[in-house]
Amino acid sequence: MKLSKRVWFSIVPVLVGSYLLALVGTYYLEKQSYLSNEKTRLEMQLSNLYSLYILYDSVIDTYFLSFSSDEFLKPILNEDALFSTAVIEGNINRSIENLNAVEYDVLTLVVMESNSRIKYFYEQSDNPFSEPSGKILEFVEGMFSERTSQLNTVFIEQDKTLGVRVKIINPLTMEPPKSDDWDDAVAVVLQMDLKNLDLLKHDLSSNYKVLASKVHDFSHVEKNNSDVHASKKLSLFLSVYLEYDQALIELRLRDLLFKAVFAVFLLTIFSSLLLVTLIKRYVTKPIQNLEKNIIGVNDDGKDFPPPGDDDDEISALSRSFYNLYGQLQSAYKKTKVLAETDSLTQLSNRRMFIVHLERLIDRGCQNISVMFIDLDNFKFVNDNFGHDAGDAVLAGFSEQLQSVVRPSDIVMGNVEDSSGVSRLAGDEFAVALSDSSSETDVNKVGLRILSIFDNGFDCPAGRFPVSASIGIAAYPRDGKTAEELIVSADAAMYQSKNNGKNQMSFYSSELAALARRELLIEQKLKENNFSEFTMYYMPVVDAKTSKIVGVEALIRWFSKDLGFVSPDEFIPIAESRGLFQELDLWVVEKVMLDVPALHELFGERCKVAINISAAQLGSENFFLRLMQVIQDIDVSRDYIELEITETFSATMTAQVEANLNLFKQAGFSLALDDFGAGHTSLQQLLDYPLDVIKIDKTVVDRTFTGGGELLNGLIGFCKSQGYSVTAEGVETKEQADFLIDAGADTLQGFYFAKPQPLQELIKNH
Ligand code: C2E
Ligand code: MG
Ligand code: MG
Repeated sequence: MKLSKRVWFSIVPVLVGSYLLALVGTYYLEKQSYLSNEKTRLEMQLSNLYSLYILYDSVIDTYFLSFSSDEFLKPILNEDALFSTAVIEGNINRSIENLNAVEYDVLTLVVMESNSRIKYFYEQSDNPFSEPSGKILEFVEGMFSERTSQLNTVFIEQDKTLGVRVKIINPLTMEPPKSDDWDDAVAVVLQMDLKNLDLLKHDLSSNYKVLASKVHDFSHVEKNNSDVHASKKLSLFLSVYLEYDQALIELRLRDLLFKAVFAVFLLTIFSSLLLVTLIKRYVTKPIQNLEKNIIGVNDDGKDFPPPGDDDDEISALSRSFYNLYGQLQSAYKKTKVLAETDSLTQLSNRRMFIVHLERLIDRGCQNISVMFIDLDNFKFVNDNFGHDAGDAVLAGFSEQLQSVVRPSDIVMGNVEDSSGVSRLAGDEFAVALSDSSSETDVNKVGLRILSIFDNGFDCPAGRFPVSASIGIAAYPRDGKTAEELIVSADAAMYQSKNNGKNQMSFYSSELAALARRELLIEQKLKENNFSEFTMYYMPVVDAKTSKIVGVEALIRWFSKDLGFVSPDEFIPIAESRGLFQELDLWVVEKVMLDVPALHELFGERCKVAINISAAQLGSENFFLRLMQVIQDIDVSRDYIELEITETFSATMTAQVEANLNLFKQAGFSLALDDFGAGHTSLQQLLDYPLDVIKIDKTVVDRTFTGGGELLNGLIGFCKSQGYSVTAEGVETKEQADFLIDAGADTLQGFYFAKPQPLQELIKNH
């Protein structure tokens, strides 16, 4: 999940949760404070009621005091009613005017006798037909019968609160009656409604349940389950109960809740947007930028842009990454150079050369040519002058190769890097020629390369007898892929080698067939399965007696896939690929097992010659392995001869010499094969512990074509040094006679016998 989404999914719920918690807390507190406010307000209302009541009570008291005074009552108690009414009403109105502190609807003033006769009735109201209420009569009658002279009460009638004062007095003394003058006493009554109190009650009833009662006990009152209620005793005769309307409370709380939820909603949206914007600006966006830069580096190969110097974590991360990228980049560049170039010559390596060729092919270049260059006799330089000299030759050649190839417009026309000149491996180099117009142009480049080796090869380490064999393959004719082109050029290079080195060859399809066959041979040899191999033996005859005095073991390979493969074909392949040791050891074992049969056939003194690949003589463990192979075979080594090919003796090193001495000490005799065809110097001939020199067929072939003298001289020289001489490839009687006369000890050739399998030798003998 993307960070920006995660912000929404993680922060918003946290925000909503926090706000909801805050909402619940706030709502609870608000509710409590609201209820307590309402309670306080309710109590204030009760206090208001009470204050109002007290005001009315004192006003009524005051009215009553003035109405029950002597001055006021005397005219009433006077029998002159007409006079008294006018006086009384005048008095009343004056008093009311003086005392008009409260509002009321009805003010009643009654003076009654004990027999309930109304002596005076005054009512200040809108009703012209009013008369004393039954309640007043009831109060007065009650007081007369109970002989109570004072009454100070409040009652509620038809939703009106009425304050009543009654006083029973003796009209003569104006004092409360004594026990015997009750019958003459009169009751003075004042009744007044508490208008403002009722109005307040009425106002309150819109929000409160309002109850008034004579007794201060509201437990029986049906409540609304509201917590906001209270009662107050206004007087002995009146208590009020107020209860805040539960529906109103709920309405207000719902309103509060709604507002709070709405506020939470708004806050959540606002805070989330704010937070997400801030996180986006300060976290997500910088991370996205960082990611974009990393992707740019990874996918598009862009450079990582230098980070800012802010001190926040993401800038620090960017800086760390920038530094890391820098280190990686330089490590990568170093690794790339190491992976793509050859450390000795700084040329591109085989892998890069292939990449370069593929690029040329992909770009649609036509007439691409690949030159495969292999240095001739490089091994000779290495073995005789040491690896430093070898390295100097390689480095020197790479420089000269670049100088003869690179400036040419024809050659490097479209090539933008130096990968077109490469060291593939060891002493193998390659050049890719693009847009070369003709074979002639390529030829020119080839000649320039070959000219580097005119009169040997010069480099800072000295002059060396090195030359180059060049193979050339053209795209698309000789290969459609880079690999195919290199293989073809390699095959053409072998052609140059086979044709005598220091030259160039263009690839041909015959060469290709040869290369394929070589490849197959190589693959088969690698399997180390020798079931298709067999040994043939070629008799060697004594020059004087013409008797068979020895045989040379020659390997034969009849392959079911490749047909007959001659040793001249597969041995160089096996040797150059380092595959010969196993085959040599197999040959030695096989021949040693045949030795008893051969001795039985040609006598105990019959020499059995085994060819040993010169490539093995340089190997440290070859002697030991050979001895291991033959240790259990009970054959005397006196008549076993090991033949070392003379062509390879040029590479004789200390190791070769050591091996030869070991073979000698082990009882084998040693023969130098193919003498006269290779490069063995006379000095080397003298240095090595040899017994036999085998003169090569090519020398024998020239017996009568100008080589006779040479042959005479060679044989004479070898004999003078104490070597036994065998002439190889004798095909005619004339040759045989000449060689016998020249002093050869033994002869070998088709003239006497061809190589044959053991069974055939037995049959023909
Ligand atoms: P080499 O050791 O000089 O063997 C002699 C080669 O000359 C043999 O060829 C033989 O058949 C051929 N030859 C001998 N006399 C005549 C002749 O009068 N006329 C003609 N035209 N050819 C003659 P081959 O068997 O083809 O062997 C070629 C080379 O392969 C050998 O030359 C030897 O260097 C190598 N070789 C053969 N067998 C083995 C082996 O078992 N091990 C190793 N290491 N090399 C072997
Ligand atoms: Mg031989
Ligand atoms: Mg030979």
